This record gives sequence, C-alpha cells and structure tokens, in this order.
Amino acid sequence: MTIYCLGSINIDHVYQVPEFPAPGETLTCKAYAFGIGGKGANQSVAAARAGARVVHIGAYGAGGEWARDVLADAGVDCAHVAMVDAPTGHAVITVDAGGENIIVLAPGANRAIGAAQVEAALGAAGPGDWFLTQNETNLCVEAAQMAKAKGLQVCYSAAPFEAEAVRAMLPLSDLIVVNEGEYAQCRAAMPEFDAEMQGRALIVTLGAKGARYIGPQGDVTVPARKVTPVDTTGAGDTFLGYALAELDAGAAPEAALALASGAAAIQVTRQGAIEAIPLRAEVAAS
Ligand code: ADP
Repeated sequence: MTIYCLGSINIDHVYQVPEFPAPGETLTCKAYAFGIGGKGANQSVAAARAGARVVHIGAYGAGGEWARDVLADAGVDCAHVAMVDAPTGHAVITVDAGGENIIVLAPGANRAIGAAQVEAALGAAGPGDWFLTQNETNLCVEAAQMAKAKGLQVCYSAAPFEAEAVRAMLPLSDLIVVNEGEYAQCRAAMPEFDAEMQGRALIVTLGAKGARYIGPQGDVTVPARKVTPVDTTGAGDTFLGYALAELDAGAAPEAALALASGAAAIQVTRQGAIEAIPLRAEVAAS
C-alpha cells in the first residue's frame, strides 16, 4: 500500500578541518561538501528505492526546492512537501582529521509543518497504509493520532531520542524502530517501556551485529553482512526504509530484516546519506 512519511528534510553542510576551532578562533576549512539528509528524507528515499509507494509530508524554505527535488527524483511523491516561511532545515557539520564531528542543527522549516497540510496528505490514506515519523518535525503526535483514527499502522523511529516524544508516541505505535543506544535510552527513561511494548513490534538495529525483531510475528535476529564501512551516516534510516517497505509488501519479519541488512551493508560502504542508498535491484544482486 502506501507509506506516508512525516519527516525532516535537511541540507547537510560538511566542513573538513584539521582540528576544531577554539572559541573566538576563525579557521579555514580544507574541504566543503553539501548534500541532503534528515532522517525523514533518508527513510522516505530508502523505502522508495526498496519499491514502496511513498508520500513524504514535510517542508522547506525559500530556495530549498532543489532539496525537495532530490526526493522526487528518488521516486518519492512530494505533492505534500510544502514551502513555508522558515529557512530550510540544515546542519553545519564540522569533521576533524580523526573523523570526529561537531554538529549544529537548525530545524527551521521542519518545525513549521501545518496541520492542514498533514490532514490533506492523509486525505486518501486508510487501512493497509503505514504512517511513519521520527523526532525531527513538529506535529508527530497529532499526525500519528490522525493516522490511527483513519486505520493506518504507525511506525515510529524514536530518533533522535527525546523522552517526552517517546512517551507520547509509544501508545500510538504499531512498530518502533531504534538503534541499540536509543533502545537503552528508552528503557532507562521509561520503566514502563517493556510493558508498553506488549502487542507491538520492535526492531532494534545492532550496527555490525545486525538487527532484531521482537513482536507479534516472533523474535528473530538477522546478522549484518561483513563489509568494511566507509561512512555509516544514514545506515539506520536505510535499514528502516527497506524493512518497512518489505513489511508493507507482506513479507515476514525475517525476510524484511534480511533485505534491509543487505541494503544497509551496501549503504555503509559509500560516502554520504541519501546518495549512498542502493536501489533494490542492486541489493537483490548482492
Ligand atoms: P544507526 O545508523 O541508527 O546508528 P545502526 O548502527 O544499528 O543504526 O545500523 C543500522 C544497520 O546498518 C544495522 O542493523 C546493519 O544492518 C547496518 N550496519 C551498520 N553498521 C554496519 C557495519 N559496520 N557492517 C555491516 N552492516 C552495518
């Protein structure tokens, strides 16, 4: 059916520096690159490349049309990605010689999505469809409530971790996807986390150790492929997009996780986030 993803679209500005500047210092970078990121955009593109029909619900500011077009070119329906009166979300990422990074995030347009926009996007949605969201936009909870009322299944990527958002989203979610760190944070912040998971499905990604599904369809762990990673930015988003697309197509959890594991293994061997997400045919051939 269709995956409706309410999610962030960010422009990542990446600056390579020999070392981080000290307060008050001005430093010239060695190299600069930019690309599209944001968990929402990454997950939408991954699900679309996996073969799902994906409608992205999001926002950009004046001059950010090209960011939307990156999603559209990847096969994501962007009819409900709107221009708003706020700057396009962006991240200033400084990377030192050792590969360590310092990131400043300006959510901008990602926090200026309108309720009417969400309502319009979900207008034709119904049972059998999925609603997907993360913690990088406004209206996550309201939109999930709207989606549930219309009979959609809700998939929640509890990232970046935010205790209050998790508490509000958990009761609305059918499937929660977290990495190991977020899983530990969820359980530490919410003593009721495990009890609240009863009857819901959980996917925990375990980096180079693979991923585990625990839910109504069993408890399965799928190993990661053995690769040498170059850049793991967006690995979790690639995994989620592929796994959800496959579950949406009716696959069993083990098969969905196996395909997602193959996609993420290719993605981590390339630089970048969105541009590193493989097409389904490439994953199938790997
Ligand atoms: P996140 O990017 O959210 O931190 P993980 O680090 O758990 O998420 O990675 C998500 C998925 O990407 C893993 O479940 C695995 O399939 C794949 N992956 C990540 N790191 C590696 C790696 N070093 N080798 C192979 N696969 C990896």
